[in-house]
Amino acid sequence: MLTAFHRLYSDVNAANLKVQLTHTPKEKLAPENLTFGTTFSDHMLEIDWDAKDGWHDPHIVPFGNLELHPASSALHYGLECFEGMKAYIDGEGKARLFRPMDNFNRLNDSCARLCMPKFNAKEVEKCLEELVRLDKGWIPNKEGYSLYLRPTVIATHPILGIAPAARVKLFVIASPVGPYYKDGFKPIKLWATKEYVRAFPGGTGNTKVGGNYGPGILAQQQAASRGCSQVLWLTPGTQCNGDLFCTEVGAMNQFFLWKDKKTGKPTLVTAPLDGTILPGITRRSILELVREDPEIKKMGITVEERHYTIQEVCDTVKDGRMIEAFGCGTAAIVTPVNGIQFEDVDYAIPAGKDGVAGDLTNAVYHKMLSIQYGKEAHPWSVLLD
Ligand SMILES: *Cc1c(COP(=O)(O)O)cnc(C)c1O
Repeated sequence: MLTAFHRLYSDVNAANLKVQLTHTPKEKLAPENLTFGTTFSDHMLEIDWDAKDGWHDPHIVPFGNLELHPASSALHYGLECFEGMKAYIDGEGKARLFRPMDNFNRLNDSCARLCMPKFNAKEVEKCLEELVRLDKGWIPNKEGYSLYLRPTVIATHPILGIAPAARVKLFVIASPVGPYYKDGFKPIKLWATKEYVRAFPGGTGNTKVGGNYGPGILAQQQAASRGCSQVLWLTPGTQCNGDLFCTEVGAMNQFFLWKDKKTGKPTLVTAPLDGTILPGITRRSILELVREDPEIKKMGITVEERHYTIQEVCDTVKDGRMIEAFGCGTAAIVTPVNGIQFEDVDYAIPAGKDGVAGDLTNAVYHKMLSIQYGKEAHPWSVLLD
């Protein structure tokens, strides 16, 4: 029998959300002065969990520092995972989210990989909606601008043993951001390297866990010293026959559009979700658009989610069959790729008639913007009233 002293092991319930408003609202920067991830809105969402009681009541509180025990296992063993999503202001001044449930479902998958507790994704999404409504004034009201949302889960369990955490904190902070491209697309060059590996079969490449990102910074620096903007991550094939599969780029999924070697038909190639690739929501949206959107379908492109090697990419460039290439993710939507460096050789990738971005890159970019900013009704865009 339950008594007043026994709380039911509970899941998140948005109806119990408590809101504590800030007494000291901050000054907002002019939109043109925003730098990614450096300024934050007035409030944040916090939901604690412990193994005895489950998820506690959600709280929206004034933005501020967290107090953490120095033995918290997030700080020692990387028990941390996160999401990246955005809130937009549409033409009628209303706030919108883009496929937010996909982010919370993916966050649950990341939690499960780290033996951290799952949560009711819909209830947490409702709490996030409240945070966005409350800090709506922080969403810059200009196309291309948005409020970047960073849901995060950390293990706050203060024990140095390596074990599943018995205490966890989920929080969401929000940062106003400008468009990735202020004056049109800037194509980037990628460095494909054998030296570093981001993910491998059985690893954590398909989850957004903090441990995937810190070790990539060194490779990123070396890419920069070679005049490349990002690393094209390669993973040795499981057959161990020396094949190096292309996986993804920095924190973006990668697409190549080329003429198929046999048929000559335009074919959009991207790595499959084999456990080493982050299942990007932008990736998924682009695949769905190319397969189903009436306008984009007219381009007659065949889609292939399959393993492909760096050698295949280089050969395609050498044969003159490469049409265009782009990376994709929430931050930039799409980023045109105009070159790849592999084993000190540069392979130039066409970047459309204007030398900036190809037709598919442009089509996908404008379609996504149109959906995200509510210029057309679409089930992916969630309107907050
Ligand atoms: C976040 C991320 C992406 C892009 O995912 P979206 O859901 O499209 O933002 C791609 N690759 C990696 C490694 C990432 O961390």
